[in-house]
Amino acid sequence: MGEKIECAKCTKIVCGTSRTGNQGPSNCPTGIKRDVIQRVLLEYDKPEVREFARQASIQEFECYINLPEGWTPRNPRVEEVAQFAKKMGYKKLGIAFCGGLPDEARTLTTILENRGFEVVSVCCKAGAIDKERIGITKEQKIGGPGSFESMCNPITQAEILNSEGTEFNILVGLCVGHDSLFFKYSHALCTALIVKDRVFGHNPVAGLYLSGTYYRKLMRKEPFDSS
Ligand code: SF4
Repeated sequence: MGEKIECAKCTKIVCGTSRTGNQGPSNCPTGIKRDVIQRVLLEYDKPEVREFARQASIQEFECYINLPEGWTPRNPRVEEVAQFAKKMGYKKLGIAFCGGLPDEARTLTTILENRGFEVVSVCCKAGAIDKERIGITKEQKIGGPGSFESMCNPITQAEILNSEGTEFNILVGLCVGHDSLFFKYSHALCTALIVKDRVFGHNPVAGLYLSGTYYRKLMRKEPFDSS
């Protein structure tokens, strides 16, 4: 193993404008991971991957408008999702949503249907399987012992959308970890429109923005204990 790759700590970030990476730090992956970078390029040569990546970059480009005062962003993410799906020629979209965000899922469905898409949506609680089935104890139920509580069921969500042949799946507020399983089992490529954050109104970056002030407790050091 060579030097640890730590782009997140880089103070140069020249990779966006320099071809060689020579101006980056000594642990710059553009310089020391050339074998990986070259190997990955072959992946982009696969026609379906290349087209997806190409359209995503066109989508990125089209999200700015060059005004006299400078380049200005113009599309909210929900608009981008619809525009990108159209670029890819998708007709049938899937929505995997959290049971806590039914209004958002309904609104998104309307927005997409208004643009001509066929939309299939599945709630995370579909299947109504008791949480105890995966080893959750009565004490670990949010509603308390004795309550019936359906487990979030992201694999079922993915498989239902797979069975419906959706071409692109959109996540709406799935929990941390449940989203991971959905990504793993979905046949179609996915994008997240909403990521759950119960404190910050599904805007998790607010926690980072506030980590120097009101939420500086996020920056505390604590011993690593995975138990
Ligand atoms: S790729 Fe190189 S230049 Fe870019 S952020 Fe990482 S270390 Fe910095």
